[in-house]
Amino acid sequence: MTNENYSMGHPAPSARRRDEDIAPYIRISYSSPRKEGNILKTVYFTEPTKENIEAAAAIIRRGGLLGIPTETVYGLGANALDADAVRSIYEAKGRPSDNPLIIHVPDASWLERYCKEIPESAYRLADRFWPGPLTMILPRKPIVPDRTTGGLDTVGVRCPNHPVTLAIIKAADVPIAAPSGNTSGRPSPTCVADMREDMDGKIDGIFEGGPSQVGVESTIIDLTCTPPRLLRPGGLPLEALEAVLGEVAIDKAVVAKLAEGEKPKAPGMKYRHYAPKAPVTVVTGSPDESAAYIQKNLPADAGVICFSEYTARFSGHIVHDLGPAADKGEQARRVFDALREFDRENVSEIFAQCPDTEGLGLAVSNRLKKAAGFHVIEV
Ligand code: AMP
Ligand code: MG
Repeated sequence: MTNENYSMGHPAPSARRRDEDIAPYIRISYSSPRKEGNILKTVYFTEPTKENIEAAAAIIRRGGLLGIPTETVYGLGANALDADAVRSIYEAKGRPSDNPLIIHVPDASWLERYCKEIPESAYRLADRFWPGPLTMILPRKPIVPDRTTGGLDTVGVRCPNHPVTLAIIKAADVPIAAPSGNTSGRPSPTCVADMREDMDGKIDGIFEGGPSQVGVESTIIDLTCTPPRLLRPGGLPLEALEAVLGEVAIDKAVVAKLAEGEKPKAPGMKYRHYAPKAPVTVVTGSPDESAAYIQKNLPADAGVICFSEYTARFSGHIVHDLGPAADKGEQARRVFDALREFDRENVSEIFAQCPDTEGLGLAVSNRLKKAAGFHVIEV
């Protein structure tokens, strides 16, 4: 491995690092548990060379933690079949242990290794949408540890659409369990800088793979019930699923705040998520109406997330542009960045315009509403 493997802006490799040039990952101790305050030297891989893919796969095989690029968001990966490695994911993220992980596979032929009672619809979906932003919930085989599934008898499986991560999974020859690579509760990382901000010094390596092309997490569909149930809206629109499956039920946690003690089918949906430090208010309705409402009610020290067409209305405020009102793909790519940016800025509160729920709008509005703790004003 040469210095070219370290991207600009990351700490220059030290003299000691040079001694380790041949295979720095070999020096990392995987056997000792990751204790708080135990700082690791995170290795940054930038070029998808065979040598780097092998080194990254070796981190996975040895039970280490690796930041991986995917088309949805960056993930924090470990060997899904190694309960100790999976425990490290929870520790590094500060994630509650009842919140299961999605396992990542290179193609649908791996489904049978980890799942049973696979309906024919799973193969139809895989055929149509994999690799891509779709996670299927299926009954698990015992080879998948409890730690990975949060004790559930089902497992979430996805085939990500990113050449680097697909190559790493194939080279490691194990499925990679990977939640989003953020510290639990923070917005998901959509570029290597976000990933570094949350995980540098806590994990063994991060593989750079450019900005995430979709920008929101995968759509989760539960195939263990009839009709299939949407547990989380994401990068694959609901309408695309309906075109293949027919009727799809929508879990309540997708659209509303759950009552105290109420349990969603995707345990992760019960947690406050994606939240910047300042409180968020989401304003729905037509773009003109929501912009007018925000303009009228905006305190002097509040910030705004709005569609591109309306940024000029809020001069004097800190504004993050969500993208054109009609371009939900762009809104999906920008939504986490807009929320994350506000943690670097001093605002008393944040008002956000929100798209309608058609297409990717369902995922964008869900992320905004969750960031707001479902504090939504309908105009
Ligand atoms: P993240 O990894 O951050 O994208 O979060 C994964 C999401 O998938 C969480 O909301 C989990 O609760 C959900 N999930 C993972 N596995 C399962 C499963 N077996 N059943 C239901 N939801 C799941
Ligand atoms: Mg997450």
